[in-house]
Amino acid sequence: MTVTTAKTKQPTLRVIPLGGLHEIGKNTCVFEYGDDLMLVDAGLAFPSDGMHGVNVVLPDTSFLRENQKRIRGMIVTHGHEDHIGGIAHHLKHFNIPVIYGPRLALSMLTGKMDEAGVSDRTTLQTVGPRDVVKVGQHFSVEFIRNTHSMADSFSLAITTPVGTIIFTGDFKFDHTPVDGEHFDLARLAHHGDKGVLCLFSDSTNAEVPGFCPPERSVFPNLDRHIAEAEGRVIVTTFASSIHRVSMILELALKNGRKVGLLGRSMLNVIAKARELGYMRAPDELFVPIKQINHVSDRETLLLMTGSQGEPLAALSRISRGEHPQVKVKSSDTIIFSASPIPGNTISVVNTIDRLMMQGAKVVYGKGEGIHVSGHGFQEDQKLMLALTRPKFFVPVHGEHRMLVRHARTGHSMGVPETNTLIINNGDVVELTADSISKSDPVKAGIELLDQSRNGIVDARVLKERQQLAEDGIVTILAAISTDGAMVAPPRVNLRGVVTTADARKMSLWTEREIKWVLENRWKQLTRSTGGKAPDVDWMGVQREVEVGLGRRMRRELQVEPLILCLVQPAPAGTPVYKGRADSEPDDRPAPRGRGGRHGAPQGGNRHGGGRNRDGGRNREATPARVIGSAPTGASSAKPVPASTPSPSPAPTKVQQPAAAQSPAAVDQEMPAGRTRRRRSAAA
Ligand SMILES: [Zn+2]
Ligand SMILES: [Zn+2]
Repeated sequence: MTVTTAKTKQPTLRVIPLGGLHEIGKNTCVFEYGDDLMLVDAGLAFPSDGMHGVNVVLPDTSFLRENQKRIRGMIVTHGHEDHIGGIAHHLKHFNIPVIYGPRLALSMLTGKMDEAGVSDRTTLQTVGPRDVVKVGQHFSVEFIRNTHSMADSFSLAITTPVGTIIFTGDFKFDHTPVDGEHFDLARLAHHGDKGVLCLFSDSTNAEVPGFCPPERSVFPNLDRHIAEAEGRVIVTTFASSIHRVSMILELALKNGRKVGLLGRSMLNVIAKARELGYMRAPDELFVPIKQINHVSDRETLLLMTGSQGEPLAALSRISRGEHPQVKVKSSDTIIFSASPIPGNTISVVNTIDRLMMQGAKVVYGKGEGIHVSGHGFQEDQKLMLALTRPKFFVPVHGEHRMLVRHARTGHSMGVPETNTLIINNGDVVELTADSISKSDPVKAGIELLDQSRNGIVDARVLKERQQLAEDGIVTILAAISTDGAMVAPPRVNLRGVVTTADARKMSLWTEREIKWVLENRWKQLTRSTGGKAPDVDWMGVQREVEVGLGRRMRRELQVEPLILCLVQPAPAGTPVYKGRADSEPDDRPAPRGRGGRHGAPQGGNRHGGGRNRDGGRNREATPARVIGSAPTGASSAKPVPASTPSPSPAPTKVQQPAAAQSPAAVDQEMPAGRTRRRRSAAA
C-alpha cells in the first residue's frame, strides 16, 4: 500500500516526532511510509519541579500502541537516556520486531530490559559504522559514525522511496575524539553529493556562536586542578559521558591516585564500557569504596554521580552528611565537570554551597574550562548543512527558540524559509520528492512514571501531590449513623497545614460542615430500601464535607490543603452527639449556607453570616427554596428519585430565619454562577 496525498497523488513519507521538540529530552521519532512504521530512538525526560515523586517523563505513545501491528523495527542512535530511556517501558505495551543500534547503547539497553522483564519482546541487533539495515519494505538505514559526548554514536542516512533523509542524532564535530573514532565526514558528503531530501538536525546549541571546543580541551584544566589538590579529589560528571570519564581515569593514573566509584549508574556504565573496550583502565586503578579510607587522601580520587544535584545521588548525599562511607573534609577539592541542565541549577548551587560551607574547595562553572558540551554550536550546525546540502530542513532536539535559531542558521546557508519547518511533538511532517508540509497532528502528550517506573502518575495524582506539598493535608474522621445523625465528635488532623485557625476552630468548622451536610444533603445522599437501614452514599457524604470545608479554608485562611474525610457509619438509633457548633460563637463569621460558600460578599454578611447556615436549613424546610431542586453543581452525589423534597422533618432549631433573605440565600438560587463565583472568592 502506498500513501498518496489527494492533491499531488505522490507517494508521501510521514515523519512524526512524539518527543524531543520544544524541550530537551524524550527524543522519540516515527517514520511512516505506506504500511511501514519505523521508530528512531525512544528516550525519557526528567521531571520539572512541580512533578512531585515523578522520576521519569515519557512521551504519550498512543499513536504507536494503536498502530503496533505496523511497527517493523527500531533504530537507536546512541546510548543517552534521552534516546534509549523509554524503550524498556514501551516494550511493556507493544512489541518491536527488531532494534538496531550501536554496541554500547544496546548493551546498556539489555540491563534495562532485563530489569523490566521485557527481554523477550524484541531482538537486539548490533551495528557498526557504515552498516546498512533494511526496515520493512520501504526503509534502509545507514549508520554514519559521528562524534558526541557519548562513545559509539551514529548519525543516520535513511533511504526512503521519496529520497534520502539525514537524521543527525546528537552530534558535534570533534576532530580529536578521545576514543580516536572520527566523524565520518566523507560519508555525509557522499550523501550530500547524491542529494539529500531533508535534514533533521540537533538544535541543542543553536544559540551559541562558534565551534564547540573538542572534548579533549578539558584535559589540561582537569589535570591542573587534580595536580594542585593537596587532599582528596572528588569529581562528578554524567556517568554516560564516556569520554569525560575516560579522561578522568587517565588523569587519576597520571597523578598517582586510586579511584573509588560512587553511584549506581557510574559503576554500571564504567563496567559496561570497560567490558566492551570503550574505556581502558587497569583493574589496579580501582579501590572498592569500603576500603577507600585505607588509601591516603593525597592518593585518592572519588568519581561519582550527582553533578545535577539530584537529591539521591552520591555527591548530594555527601554534601548533606548522609553518606555512610564518605564525609566531606576541608582539604577536599571537588570538581563539577558538567554544567547544570536548565531546571537543575538551583539544586546544583545548593549542593555547591553545602560543600563549601564544610570547607571544601569547589571547582565549578564555565570559566574553569572543565566542561564542554557534546552538542555542536552554530558553526558545527553550518558544517552539517554544508556537507549534506538538504532540499528541506527540520531543526529538532531543542526548545522552541533553539529550533527557530537553527532554522535561521539554515536560511543563512541557503535553505529557503519555505523549505524549513518548525514543528512540535505530534506534528506530522509530510515529505514528497518535491514538497514538505505539516498535516494534522497525532496525540503526543506526556506520561509520568513514579519510583516504580510502572505506575503512571496521571494529572489528578499530580494535582493531589502538589496540594500536599504546598498546603498539606487535613483528615477528618466522622461518625454518622444510618439515620443521618452525627454520633461522636469528629476527629480532625492537620499535617503540613500552615493556618491561623487553632484546633478548636477547625473542629468547630468541621462539626458545622458535617451538620450542614446531614441537614441539607441527606435526602439526596440516601435511598430508602423499604427495610430498616437506608442505602447511604457515604462517598457522597464524604465528598460534600471535603468540598465544603475546603471552600471555607480557602476563603478564610487562604490555604488549599488536600482534605480527606472518612465516615465511620453507625447503626440507626445510636445516641446523637449534639456538638458545639450551635452553642459556641463563631469568632469570625463567614457567609454560610451553600450559597455563602460560593462567595457571597463577605462585607454585607459579616454578622449574620454565621447564621446563614441556619438560613439554609430554614430554606430546606421551605418548599419554595428547596436545595434539592436546584442542580447541585458542587455535588456529584447520586440523585435520589424524588428530586423535590417534601418539607423537611429536620428538627433543627431555626435561630435567625431572617438570614434566609441574605445575599447567600439569593445566590443559592443561581447555580449557574456558582463555579465562577467560587473561583473569584478563592482569589
Ligand atoms: Zn546524546
Ligand atoms: Zn540527546
